[in-house]
Amino acid sequence: MGSSAAGFPMTNTDAIKSLAELFRGHRGAVVLTGAGISTESGIPDFRSPGTGLYNSIDPMEYLSVDAMRARPEVFWKYFTEVFEPSALAEPNAGHIALAKMEAAGYICAIATQNIDGLHQKAGSRSVFEVHGHLRTARCSECQKRFPLSAAFDQVRSGHLPECEGCGESLRPDVVLFGDMMPEAFAQASDAAAESNLMLVVGSSLTVSPANTLAMMSRRLAILNRDPTPFDDRAAVVIHAAAGETLAALAAELL
Ligand code: NAD
Repeated sequence: MGSSAAGFPMTNTDAIKSLAELFRGHRGAVVLTGAGISTESGIPDFRSPGTGLYNSIDPMEYLSVDAMRARPEVFWKYFTEVFEPSALAEPNAGHIALAKMEAAGYICAIATQNIDGLHQKAGSRSVFEVHGHLRTARCSECQKRFPLSAAFDQVRSGHLPECEGCGESLRPDVVLFGDMMPEAFAQASDAAAESNLMLVVGSSLTVSPANTLAMMSRRLAILNRDPTPFDDRAAVVIHAAAGETLAALAAELL
């Protein structure tokens, strides 16, 4: 079910038409994506009831800088189990639709909270990975970078990933709880502040400061399966699956 700025309920078909109107009127939109856009590629999100990772453990306990420093073996075992499959996932209809909309000029940038790299795999070119990515790990001492796949191999053979140069421990190039935000977040903020339209897809909008991006554009639209705390600020809200909805939006526009 969708709704308009005034909170009037609309069918999803009507809401997609309204969203398409927004994109036609405000070309060069920014899209903010979260874990929900990748669940249809088989990657669990954090907060979906029943299937999200938060249902079994508190990721904060495992995915923080403090946890990594205090118990590196536990951290790397969990990180490898949970995120190695994400590196092998394939983009779905939602990622592909966004890439086509960028190629046609409707989207100027994607700011993603995801670390799975699926927007780039789908062909999107202007992607700001505000929480890092799964391509590399870096030495916590000399900052030298290595393919993350090599670190995963070391973990699976029972070793802590270490820097080949100085022997210090490696850490993944993702933003953990307690880390500073990367340069990509500043770039995403600039793009959002310059935009006339932001579409949020598949995010609970509860992780700060990434969720502040949703307040920087002049107009907001939200596509998420469940309600978010930002729904009442959006011109159009659609509570539906990302893949088929984005495919329908792209078909409406292209
Ligand atoms: P979240 O888990 O807090 O929220 C995901 C939202 O997506 C939920 O509100 C859910 O209703 C919605 N959703 C789930 N499947 C959907 C679908 N098919 N269509 C539409 N909506 C759907 O995710 P978040 O807001 O991105 O924050 C979680 C943090 O976890 C992020 O910082 C991200 O870095 C990290 N994370 C990333 C991945 C990934 O890279 N794929 C996976 C898990 C977690």
